[in-house]
Amino acid sequence: TCGFVAIVGRPNVGKSTLMNRILGQKVSITTRRPQTTRHQVRGIKTQEDAQFIYVDTPGMHIMSKDRNKAINRFMNQAATQALRDVDCVVFIIDRTRWSEEDQAVLTRLEHVKAPVILAVNKVDRLTDKSGLMPWLAEVGARRDFAAIVPISAKHGTNVDELETEVAKHL
Ligand code: GDP
Ligand code: MG
Repeated sequence: TCGFVAIVGRPNVGKSTLMNRILGQKVSITTRRPQTTRHQVRGIKTQEDAQFIYVDTPGMHIMSKDRNKAINRFMNQAATQALRDVDCVVFIIDRTRWSEEDQAVLTRLEHVKAPVILAVNKVDRLTDKSGLMPWLAEVGARRDFAAIVPISAKHGTNVDELETEVAKHL
C-alpha cells in the first residue's frame, strides 16, 4: 500500500518538526519565524508493508480577509491542491491555545473527505497537565476527528501512536 498524508496547521505549530521526526531526517525547514516554508515539502517513508508520502502544507491558515494578496493566493492554491486525493490529514494544533488561525484551518478542512486526525503538539511544555483532557474534549467536539493524539514532535513523544492512527487509513 501507498498513502498520501497531509500535515496541516497554522504557522509555528510544529508541522516541519513533526515531518522531520516521522521521516527521521531533515527534509523540511524548521524555524521560529512563521511562513518560512512557502512550498509544499514532501517526504517518503518506506516500511515493509506500506509507503507513506507526507506533504507539509503551508498557507492553510489564511483567513478570507487576506485572500487577495498574491502570495496568499499562491499559498492557498498550493494548500488546496495538497488536500486533493489525500488518504489522511493530520491537523496540528499547539497544546492549550486555540486561535482564530486554527479555526481558519479547520474551516478549510470542512470539505475534505479524508479522515482528519487531530495532533495536539508541544505537550512537553505543559507544566500542569490536568487541564489537557477537558480542553481536548472541547476542541475535539469541533469536528468528527478520526483520532485525537497529544504529542511532542520535538521530543518524539507519542509520535509512534500518531503514526499508528495514520496507518489505519492507508
Ligand atoms: P511549522 O511552522 O508548523 O512548520 O513549525 P516548526 O516545525 O517550524 O516549529 C516551530 C517552532 O516550534 C520551532 O521552534 C520548533 O522547535 C518548536 N516546536 C515544534 N514542535 C515542538 C514540540 O513538540 N515541543 C516544543 N517545546 N517545541 C516544539
Ligand atoms: Mg514549517
